[in-house]
Amino acid sequence: MRYELMTPRQIRTAIDNRWPCVLPLGVLEYHSEHLGVGMDTLAVERVLHRLEREMDLVILPPFYYGAASYAVAPPERRGTVHVPGEALGAFAKALFAGLLRVGFRNIRGIIHHQSENFDAGMPTDLAFKNAARQAIFEFLDRDRGEGWWGRPESADYYEQHAQGGDPFSWIRFHPLMDAAVIKAFAFDHAGIGETSLMMALCPEAVDMGAFDETAWFARSAKEATPAFGERGVALILEHLKEVLA
Ligand SMILES: [Zn+2]
Repeated sequence: MRYELMTPRQIRTAIDNRWPCVLPLGVLEYHSEHLGVGMDTLAVERVLHRLEREMDLVILPPFYYGAASYAVAPPERRGTVHVPGEALGAFAKALFAGLLRVGFRNIRGIIHHQSENFDAGMPTDLAFKNAARQAIFEFLDRDRGEGWWGRPESADYYEQHAQGGDPFSWIRFHPLMDAAVIKAFAFDHAGIGETSLMMALCPEAVDMGAFDETAWFARSAKEATPAFGERGVALILEHLKEVLA
């Protein structure tokens, strides 16, 4: 369900049943001449719209204003909007604090942008991960009182983890494609992988008439097809069903 459409009663159902509360996290970035600048975020959003037909899910309004970087191209007249990691931290921490106050304990961020080496992290996901940790610490201090970890009631803190009680698992992050999906499909920037995904998920953001042969990173996009995109979508859905289960 889309969070903005949910009534309080539906929100309570989602909280009580620990439905994943998912934040599509992304950027606005130049993807050569033939793709919409929201590609990385749109891919997450549109895949989640498919997933919600198959499982109970809260989909938060997507966050498009991540740290895109200007590595691909300068922004002038091309469309990249880069908001640096430092600026994202305060926003993200406040967002997570708010979601914890509402009652969500199974919050997930899903990101595609620069996520090929996800464990090491990149500015957008690192800013949100750090903010999540800080929001959880502050929430626990407020909710349980300072010294909560040192008190006798916490003696079984690590045993509680085994039963899923680890508060630091309340907010988790996942790449849209893990290593297995990347291996079986493709990971690129505006190449055959991303272009095919958009053809399958969001054809209104593809204009092959504007395709620019001169961009090395996008050259493989001429082989893109909706059918190949659907293959990628199927792999991504399998991966997400596993991590969100
Ligand atoms: Zn991309």
